[in-house]
Amino acid sequence: MAFVITRSCCKDSSCVPVCPVDCIRPAGAPGEYTDSEMLYIDPDTCIDCGLCMEECPVDAIYSGENLPQDLERFRDINAEYFKRHPLQQYGEPLPEEHDPVEPGSLRVAIVGAGPAGCYNACELLFIDGVEVDMYERLPTPYGLIRGGVAPDHLNTKEIVDVFDGAFTDDRFACHLNVEVGRDLTHEDLMAHHHAVVYAVGAFHSRTLGIPGEELSGHHSATDFVAWYNGHPDFADQSFDLTHERAVIIGNGNVAIDVARMLLLEPDELADTDIADHALQALSQSNVKEVVVLGRHAPRDAAYTLKEFLALAHLSGIDVVVESDYLEARPDDDIEFEMKVNAAREYAQREPSPENKRIVFRFLVSPVEIVGSDRVEGLRVVHNAVDESGAFVQGDPTGETELIETPLILRSIGHRGSRIEGLPFDEGRCIVPNDRGRVLGDDGEPLPGVYVTGWIKRGAHGVIGTNKTDAEETVARLWEDFDDGKLTSDIQDSASLQELVAQRDGEVIDWSGWRAIDAAERQRGEEASRPRVKFVDIAEMLAAAQSAASSR
Ligand code: SF4
Repeated sequence: MAFVITRSCCKDSSCVPVCPVDCIRPAGAPGEYTDSEMLYIDPDTCIDCGLCMEECPVDAIYSGENLPQDLERFRDINAEYFKRHPLQQYGEPLPEEHDPVEPGSLRVAIVGAGPAGCYNACELLFIDGVEVDMYERLPTPYGLIRGGVAPDHLNTKEIVDVFDGAFTDDRFACHLNVEVGRDLTHEDLMAHHHAVVYAVGAFHSRTLGIPGEELSGHHSATDFVAWYNGHPDFADQSFDLTHERAVIIGNGNVAIDVARMLLLEPDELADTDIADHALQALSQSNVKEVVVLGRHAPRDAAYTLKEFLALAHLSGIDVVVESDYLEARPDDDIEFEMKVNAAREYAQREPSPENKRIVFRFLVSPVEIVGSDRVEGLRVVHNAVDESGAFVQGDPTGETELIETPLILRSIGHRGSRIEGLPFDEGRCIVPNDRGRVLGDDGEPLPGVYVTGWIKRGAHGVIGTNKTDAEETVARLWEDFDDGKLTSDIQDSASLQELVAQRDGEVIDWSGWRAIDAAERQRGEEASRPRVKFVDIAEMLAAAQSAASSR
């Protein structure tokens, strides 16, 4: 019985090259982003060797014989994908690996230790002779894997194992708790590296631009996510959980994560690595209904099929879908069609009065946050649709309603911010670039400066999208290296060490992070939890230091 890819697929694609019969799709070439939300295995071609399962970093692949019941549906989803997209061998040659380089001939700085930066580092370290220095303002690496992935998605967090081997290499140096722009300048980095890759992400939440936005009780969902994940900058925030209803504006996967976290029972939360302060606050929450608002019809909802389907298996939580537009279009591809089908199934279920509920509402847009000195409700307008049932931008029906709530979380996307010393595209909120090469104001590449991840392509894609993205950026870097476009005139690594050491405060290296990680896991073991995170930078530094002093 064929193997099956399931819900936690991160599109990292590590499974693709190991498959001896090349039956995992869709798998794009470097820099080729595929629209699909996950990968699928062709059941007619799979020979049950199990190699992909061993390779998958997030345990998303199962033998068809051992598929857990709550993932059964993915058997059909995998098969259905290939009915619509019959397997064709790509026949494309894999990109050639670069030859090893002379030690000292290519030292690259990577700014940001999130998934985009980590994939870039691995891609570079793959070639002998390359040295990589990674800089990160927090004392902990992994960016949104640590601070964004929902605590109950522990499988997804296992993606960090992919990076671990590369980061223990002597050619890799990690400088955590060092902020580029404060402790080091762009010019400092350029003076000590042949190339600099910015992987700084895009963390500012977009705003609504409606009256009442400033009222207390309205937050960015990003802040709420960072709070429950123990990001040190957000640990002191508080959220009004006293009322039975919370409202989320936007219906992407972040909205689904937030809705789940608001409604899970305390014992389910305790099985996760949620920050202690959030565990405590959510355990006392009165929230019983989370209303998730989307401006489009269900077919065009922002959430992915797999995250939407997963809600069906939450115990004590009903999913309620309110919409008149629950038919797919004849030419819809599988993920669209199944998304609509799943919405229709939810709509047909009878919710239980004892259960908590997530209510999905569609074709509504916020027009005003209502309240005198804090949020009391959200006024929405009903959107018009065209003959195909698609949302019509800028032409609402005029019919409005007030949804009462003291807690509004907006989850409408992120934007990048300007990096000191680099050009910035204010319209797209990215650094202007050509496949990763940063472009100056004259449209020409700035020698030796690159971007990757959200600051390069905008805030979209899943964790594995960053791998494809990294391959594209690193390919440009190699072209420039081979064409002699990178400077050879840089200062030595001793001078770099001196420069980094001059900053105020402690610099944490990889062994320091490992010490923090071990201490958190130890605290978790004592509390019968996977991990108890430090949320205070001083505590993180103390954990890193105690390991250093015992060496
Ligand atoms: Fe390919 Fe083997 Fe995985 Fe089947 S089990 S998809 S043949 S790697």
